[in-house]
Amino acid sequence: MPLPLKLNPALDVLPVYQPGRPIEEVARELGLPFGSIDKLASNENPLGPSPMAMEAVREAAGNMHLYPDGNCHYLRGKLARKLVVEPENLIFGNGSNEVLELLGHALLQPGDEIVIAQYCFVVYPIVGRLFGADVVSVPAKDYGHDLLGMLNAVTDRTRIVFVANPNNPTGTLASREDVVALISGLPEHVLLVLDEAYVEYLDDPVEVMGLIRNGDRPNLFVTRTFSKIYGLAGLRIGYGVGHPEFIAALEKVREPFNVNSLAQAGAAAALDDDEHLGRTRAVNAAGLEYFRVALRKLGIKYVPSSGNFILARVGDVGSVFAELQKRGVITRPVAGYGLPEWLRISVGTPAQNERCIAALGEIVRREE
Ligand code: PMP
Repeated sequence: MPLPLKLNPALDVLPVYQPGRPIEEVARELGLPFGSIDKLASNENPLGPSPMAMEAVREAAGNMHLYPDGNCHYLRGKLARKLVVEPENLIFGNGSNEVLELLGHALLQPGDEIVIAQYCFVVYPIVGRLFGADVVSVPAKDYGHDLLGMLNAVTDRTRIVFVANPNNPTGTLASREDVVALISGLPEHVLLVLDEAYVEYLDDPVEVMGLIRNGDRPNLFVTRTFSKIYGLAGLRIGYGVGHPEFIAALEKVREPFNVNSLAQAGAAAALDDDEHLGRTRAVNAAGLEYFRVALRKLGIKYVPSSGNFILARVGDVGSVFAELQKRGVITRPVAGYGLPEWLRISVGTPAQNERCIAALGEIVRREE
């Protein structure tokens, strides 16, 4: 029987978010033990969570019968000090993904436009379409965002421009000059969302927090996450940084207890764990270099990456993905992003990277 309910027609035009396959699922399917599988599919931290975060979560677990602090008071204060902003500049979400969705609630109505880049993170068009906005996609330049092209695509109807820097799934980084030109050229009725999910991996990131700090750019909003370098993807916590009045608008549409107490405790502790952060950054930099050299040797084209993953052109993705999986390595096809020949591989530990490249080598040679 067809479903008799009147669904929101926007659901018919939503792009699909294809997550990395969970280890449990692949293990079950292939009849392999959980521990024998490496997941290089979701840009997680291969070193695991910060030990300090784990300790804090263990401690907080005793209070999980209580509702969390809906205001994230302790974490808010600590993060505000670290970023040198006011607590009122911050909003927390169940992953930065939720913060991105709050933007749709607060800003978008049918007939509005959002501007995104070709090959951008798929959540942006999902949010746009969900709220009935028209999605204007600007062609990529060398797989990266064409920020000046995006600026030119802005109209009176534009409400949000989404820029991930570095971008996922391509790993590309926009130049400082282009970021500055976009920020200063954007009309003030348009919100610029700078998604900095991978910013902590950069040696020399474009510093935009100052513009938010001094209140100069109410139309600038930065999102970040604890899912990547901090290794807390399973806890689901991310945040946005913006003008206090805009943050207050977002707070109206945030559900009261969106960030759980374990996530708050883990995130606050992780902020202090410079050692884990430093080690993760070093392992990632070495891993990226390893992949660059190894992919080149295999004759596989890749996009130079500034994130914790690399996009590799493997050709017959369906087969390469399945063969890698049979060999215990989960990667991420990105056909849904309009990149049908490409596979995104997250940087793992040295052993995981070597296993992935060895398997890839075997598969590529077999297919020749
Ligand atoms: N932005 C980008 C660019 C991402 O790659 C991701 C995660 N894949 C997110 C936002 C969302 O991350 P989370 O919800 O885990 O904070």
